[in-house]
Amino acid sequence: MIISGKDLSARLKAEMAVEVASFPEKYGRVPHLVVILVGEDPGSVSYVKGKAKASEAVGIRNTTIRKPDTISEEELLGIIDELNRDDEVDGILVQLPLPRHINEDRIIAAIRKEKDVDGFHPMNVASLWMKQPCTLPCTPKGIIRMLCEAGVVLEGSNAVVVGRSNIVGLPVAKLLLDANATVTVTHSRTKNLGEVTHRADILVVAIGRPKFIKEDMVREGAVVIDVGVNRDPETGKLCGDVDFEPIEKKASIITPVPGGVGPMTICCLMENTIECFLRKMEK
Ligand code: NDP
Repeated sequence: MIISGKDLSARLKAEMAVEVASFPEKYGRVPHLVVILVGEDPGSVSYVKGKAKASEAVGIRNTTIRKPDTISEEELLGIIDELNRDDEVDGILVQLPLPRHINEDRIIAAIRKEKDVDGFHPMNVASLWMKQPCTLPCTPKGIIRMLCEAGVVLEGSNAVVVGRSNIVGLPVAKLLLDANATVTVTHSRTKNLGEVTHRADILVVAIGRPKFIKEDMVREGAVVIDVGVNRDPETGKLCGDVDFEPIEKKASIITPVPGGVGPMTICCLMENTIECFLRKMEK
């Protein structure tokens, strides 16, 4: 079975649109998401456009602030400070990566935790690891949602996560652990990676290497979640970290690239924006 993140996210966004349509009467306005885009990186431009389009579909107000990559860190911090203090702004997202002269950690930490729709703020990260209420990072949240919607039993399963980044590998491992999976986190120094991945009932791959996971690294009947977004060096087309065609025949469930984890990430961003809005309105 191929889980279509595209179809699932379309259904979830339609449900959110109904909820958001009731907000003006209840709260006087709709949620407002501000996305800051620094520079012209084509990948970032396309992600930001996707976020604006999804906001429109759900009925969330979206403002995109575009700045040249010569912007100073101070100026960017000034914009964030203004947005932090603006009562009409519920979510702030700074599209990453930022130019090298800007310290990403400082920028992320400057966003008010209550408006951190990406779930990257140190306080949100700490809350996740301490099992306290928080805004969850969008990609890991979307992955767990896909697994649950597909009826995958997480409790007691052997989950293997390939990649240990702060935005995908580590938080998805924590969410799988919280769902009572037995979790192994692997990385570039893992020995005999194929043997470890072969033991997985659930394999989540987030490394950023085109078609890196080969058929012999996956067990028959495994559930395979492909987070990678890469260009296939041979065809120039988008592809994941998983060699999809042979593995699709072997896996019980697999996510495609494009149309898998990506749309779910944006969908969870919409959900996070609504959650931040509601937390404020219902205080
Ligand atoms: P990072 O570059 O931050 O992390 C990559 C991780 O993969 C590291 O932990 C690294 O190990 C590990 N790794 C690299 N090479 C190998 C290898 N040969 N064997 C085992 N592990 C390896 O990447 P991200 O987590 O940010 O992103 C990963 C991929 O997911 C990218 O393609 C990105 O574009 C995509 N992505 C997709 C999203 C979506 O919504 N669909 C959202 C976010 C990311 P080590 O720590 O040892 O260096």
